[in-house]
Formats: sequence, structure tokens, C-alpha cells
Amino acid sequence: MKAILIIGDGMADRPIKELNNKTPLETAKKPTLNKIAKTGICGLIDPIAPGIVPGSDVATLSLLGYDATKVYAGRGALEALGFGIEVSSDDVAFRCNFGTVDKNLVVLDRRAGRIDTASATKLAQALQKTAKDFPMAKILFKNTVQHRGILRLRGKGLSSMVSSTDPAKIGQKTLQATPINKTPEATKTAKIVNKLTQLFHETLKNHPINKEREKKGLPPANIVLCRGAGTLPLIEPLTQRYGIRAAVVAAMPLVKGVCKIAGMDLLPVKGASGTYETNFVEKAKATVKALESYDFILTHVKATDVASHDEKFALKIKMIEKLDAMVNHIMKNIDNEETLIAVTADHTTSCKTGNHEADPVPVILTGPGVRTDDVKEFSERACAKGGLHRIRGMDLMPIMLNLLGKSIKFGA
Ligand code: ZN
Ligand code: ZN
Repeated sequence: MKAILIIGDGMADRPIKELNNKTPLETAKKPTLNKIAKTGICGLIDPIAPGIVPGSDVATLSLLGYDATKVYAGRGALEALGFGIEVSSDDVAFRCNFGTVDKNLVVLDRRAGRIDTASATKLAQALQKTAKDFPMAKILFKNTVQHRGILRLRGKGLSSMVSSTDPAKIGQKTLQATPINKTPEATKTAKIVNKLTQLFHETLKNHPINKEREKKGLPPANIVLCRGAGTLPLIEPLTQRYGIRAAVVAAMPLVKGVCKIAGMDLLPVKGASGTYETNFVEKAKATVKALESYDFILTHVKATDVASHDEKFALKIKMIEKLDAMVNHIMKNIDNEETLIAVTADHTTSCKTGNHEADPVPVILTGPGVRTDDVKEFSERACAKGGLHRIRGMDLMPIMLNLLGKSIKFGA
């Protein structure tokens, strides 16, 4: 027996007036997901606990069976891993943005006009050169997509307990990183971040690419704003913990980072982009193919969350329908007598607030040996009546492993 866990990022929602007080999931045409609901068991999941608003990182950790409240150590290192940047257990990594500031370091644009990746790469190379002989830690700065990047600090006595330099609002001055606790490690790390911010600003403001941008009337990328300091969560990989071979089909770096630290293989997928244009068919194909070599596959779709943050419920409905078609493709091409399938969301993202919310998410689970209930539809409302009732995110994995015949008995 093998298992596939399909996660529609932020797929759950709240009632929307324009949809007759239904959610996008209730409104979408989703014959495959309804069929799974009908043949299997349904319920609700609190990704972390009732009332807690989760990020995708902690929610994914939780759905993989880890207690995120105990192991989570910030976003930066996970995202760095997801971008293929090597991170070791003593490193501290930050998510960064190239931004635009005036001469008083007041932020004019948090994304430097969404600077193109090619220019950002050249700027990042200049920063790397600047930081080559930085005395307090070994520095790696790498841009990723457009204005985004990763800063990795390596050395002795560092801590992720430092605040962000990104004021998160335009018109406000770039913040000083401050230690969140009183340890010498946090104090030292904050000092490094502040010194680097100054050093990077000096390099960037005189860089020919920025001079050129200013001439063209484009906002110069003259500051690096850092946030989300993180270290690697120390967790036992799924391979060791449960003796399963696991892989992930995803585009989102943060989710890939979480899965990597959980010991899962990252499978490349043609056209998987984490955007509305992501290639759902290729994701389905990659999932089917992965079943040949792995026991457990996580297939992640980001587009549902993107539509929710963009507050576009019609587009969210469309993405749910595409996800349904993706699941249909998977189910048609696998041995349903040998495969357990679970579908859920990592959290609720409201198309009205544009934010993650704490409402529990629906879950459906089907496969050989799985009990059934009377629920016939995959939605927030219908799954509330299901036989799984209301569980925590970290309960799902043990339930699936038991159905796979991989549990170890508790007691004698
Ligand atoms: Zn998410
Ligand atoms: Zn989100």
C-alpha cells in the first residue's frame, strides 16, 4: 500500500456573500473530490490548534506529523533549503527583499519595482563580493526570483532570535535589527545584520545598475530588507521515523524546504510554478510516476492560496476545479486498490480578508480498508459532519500510516 497526500494551499475559506454565503470550495464543480468524500471518510483539521492562524511552513510540518509548536525555528532556513541553498544546523538564514530607500533610509518601495531577476543577480554578486571578508560571520547572499533573496549567516554563536529590518510599510524608516532575547548570540546576530545592511546599502546605491535604473525613472534596488530569521528545525526525517520512502511534488520553495528537512525527495516537475499558470497535468503525471519508487507522496498546489491573497474568489473556484481535474488524472492512472488518498488544505485563506485565518480545514481520505461516513461532498460544511470529526494537523500522518500498515503498537 502507498499513500498520496494532496494539499490545496489555503483552499478552505469562509462564506462569501456574492456566492450566496457559500465558500469557493462549496461553489466549485469538483466531481472527483466529491467521489473521494463519498467513498471515504471526512472531517475537519485544525492545522495547529483551534484559533491558531498558521503559516504554510508550520501547517505543512504539522500535516507531515511533526509538532510544529515544538520544532519550528523560523521561516528563513526552510525557504533557503527550498531554493537549493545548503543550510547547516548552526546557520541562520533570512528572507530578503531588494527595496528602495531615500537618503534617510525611509522605504519608498519594498520590492524595488519588482526588479528583474537578471539585474538582481548582478547586484547580488556585487553584495557577495562586498561581504567576502566580513569579519563577524561567513556571509552568503543569493537572489532568488525578482526582488527576493536569501541571506545566510554562518559561524559560531549565532541566533535566529533577531527582529526584522523590513518595516513592512512604505514611508517608514528601515528598522534596526534587535535581539529578541538577551543572549549574546542574539545580540551578535542583530549587530551583524545591521552592519551588513549598512554595507550593502553603500554598495548598492553606487552600483551602475541602480544608476541606470534611476536614469530610466525606475526605483533603484538600494537596500536589502531582512525578515523571517530562521534555523533548521531539528526533526527526525520520515524515512527514519516511519521507515517510508517519501517525496514531494511542489513548486513553492517554503514547502519544498519543509519537505527536504523531513527527508523527502524533491521531484522536479515541468511547468510547476506555484502560480495560476502552474501545470496541473504535469503535477498529476509526476505524482503517478513517483508511486513507482516511493511509499508516500505529497502533492502541493499553491495557486488556491495565491487567488485567496489576491481576494479573487472566482479565480479560486477555477483553481479548485483544476485541482479536481488533477486528482482525477491521478486516480485514473493508479491502482486504487493499493493506494490511500487524502486531500486537504494546509490552512484557511479568506478571499475577503486576503489573509490566512484560523478556521479548520476539510479533509477527505479514501482507500482500501478506510471506513466510510455519510458525507458526499468535499467542503467545509459537509466535512464538518464526517466520521473523522475534528483532528489536529499532526494527527493525519499517524492515521494514514496505520492504514498503510506501518504503525507501531503503543503498549503491549
Ligand atoms: Zn499555505
Ligand atoms: Zn498564504
